[in-house]
Amino acid sequence: MEGLLGEKKRVVVVGGGAAGSLIAKTLQDHADVFLIDFKDDTGKHTLGNIDQIMGYTDEIGSKQRNLRGKANLGSTDMNVLAVFSMLNGFKEDYMAFQRIRVSSRIWKLSDIKICIHVKDDSLLAHPNCFSFIHSYYAIFQRLLSSNSMDSDWEVYHKFGIRKEFYEIPWTNLRSMVEPSFAERTVINHSDYLPNAHVITSAATNITQNEVLTAQGRQIAYDYLVIATGHVDSGPYTKAERLSNYEAEHEKIKSAKPILIVGGGPTGVELAAEIIVDFPDKKVTLVHRGSRLLEFIGEKAGKKAMDWLNSKKVEVILGQSVKLSSVSDGAYETSGGETIIADCHFLCTGNPIGSSWLKDTLLKDNLDMHGRLMVDANLRVRGHNNIFAIGDITDIPEIKQGYLAQAHALVAAKNLKLLIKGENDSKLSTYKPASPMALVSLGRREGVAQVMCVTMGGRVPGMIKSGDLFVGKTRKQLGLKSQ
Ligand SMILES: Cc1cc2nc3c(=O)[nH]c(=O)nc-3n(C[C@H](O)[C@H](O)[C@H](O)COP(=O)(O)OP(=O)(O)OC[C@H]3O[C@@H](n4cnc5c(N)ncnc54)[C@H](O)[C@@H]3O)c2cc1C
Repeated sequence: MEGLLGEKKRVVVVGGGAAGSLIAKTLQDHADVFLIDFKDDTGKHTLGNIDQIMGYTDEIGSKQRNLRGKANLGSTDMNVLAVFSMLNGFKEDYMAFQRIRVSSRIWKLSDIKICIHVKDDSLLAHPNCFSFIHSYYAIFQRLLSSNSMDSDWEVYHKFGIRKEFYEIPWTNLRSMVEPSFAERTVINHSDYLPNAHVITSAATNITQNEVLTAQGRQIAYDYLVIATGHVDSGPYTKAERLSNYEAEHEKIKSAKPILIVGGGPTGVELAAEIIVDFPDKKVTLVHRGSRLLEFIGEKAGKKAMDWLNSKKVEVILGQSVKLSSVSDGAYETSGGETIIADCHFLCTGNPIGSSWLKDTLLKDNLDMHGRLMVDANLRVRGHNNIFAIGDITDIPEIKQGYLAQAHALVAAKNLKLLIKGENDSKLSTYKPASPMALVSLGRREGVAQVMCVTMGGRVPGMIKSGDLFVGKTRKQLGLKSQ
């Protein structure tokens, strides 16, 4: 176990999203702070845009194709070393990577599962580890470069994948249409946490006094903060994230008809971003529910619908898309309609990040929705030294990033008091906020709901849609707004 050696109290924060990043930043000069953050709760990772990593493998593509006959693709093992030895730039690490085994199993060409077994956990920290794994996938796809293989394969990995950055969660849709926007929104944890320790691994268990990670580390804590709001997936480094957005942008630019699946805030905001920047595209949004933006009032949903219709976005309600049976760009809906699209974006929301807690000390503190039940001081009920903040909590309010940040500030204040030895009566309480939500519609307009007042157009647009609160969030983290 990595123990409590210093004089400072140790605070371990699990989850580096809107809430976790801010509390870690706020406490780093008052305690010995550890931030644990990673991608993918379930060990499932979808490689959405394999093309961007072809850069690694382009030069060796032809050699790889020749290898096709030799690789036993149907068995559980591939000749990883043969693949690896051809990767330019990784030769110096050859010995290290001999210890990685990748096994692949093919049930059918459209359903490929790859397991990565990293024998020596320390390799996960190796700077080239994930580039290697990515390259491997790319080669694997080339080996299988048969027509029926598409780029959305599911990859299961045994260990949580590193995540080195915090990305302001509600900005990623803008970054898809304007990749340079992500320069300010994807922030390396080390940039705002110079005085904290960042562990890029999944937290997998909690005991009375330590957190266990997927890499097998045991991190002792005096105080623990759980902030694993939603499961995040995608690239692991800032550079990868930025190139990922370039690829998304190209995909949007080159597509004519585009399909968006899901009519919550993500689907609506993405449809709006695309139609404002590319007004000539044919955008269709299909939503299973009976109205858009079901997380807020009906009027807000209606305003979003009118706005999208005015921009000629076709919205189909009450239907779902059968994504498993797409052929030649023809998507079937549950209502028997066929939608032709060059590409689709799945905007159905990420699962809540609490599955890892189900076998831990906190298993009885989860409500029926998988949220952690907290008291007014934001401590997990019955645990004096464990706080929970952000979307993971059962606080009765709309789940919003600005509220997650507000929780972080209240919990940080309470932690500072506890660290100083103050008693519980001094602790601040958090009062659930009144419903307020802002949905951007492109760069200038939006829909806002503040308590029972709903408005659309330029005013909400002025508040959110221009900068998407990026300057404000960066400043909170102690960074320049630009
Ligand atoms: C399209 C869209 C638009 C939005 N617009 C706004 C807006 O305008 N304003 C606003 O205030 N809010 C907005 N929100 C909501 C906001 O994004 C969330 O409320 C906020 O991100 C919640 O913060 P969090 O810290 O609780 O969780 P998250 O930001 O989801 O962070 C959780 C982190 O924990 C990590 N994690 C999960 N499990 C583990 C584990 N076992 N070990 C280690 N790490 C783990 C995840 O990878 C992630 O990094 C929007 C959301 C969407 C989808």
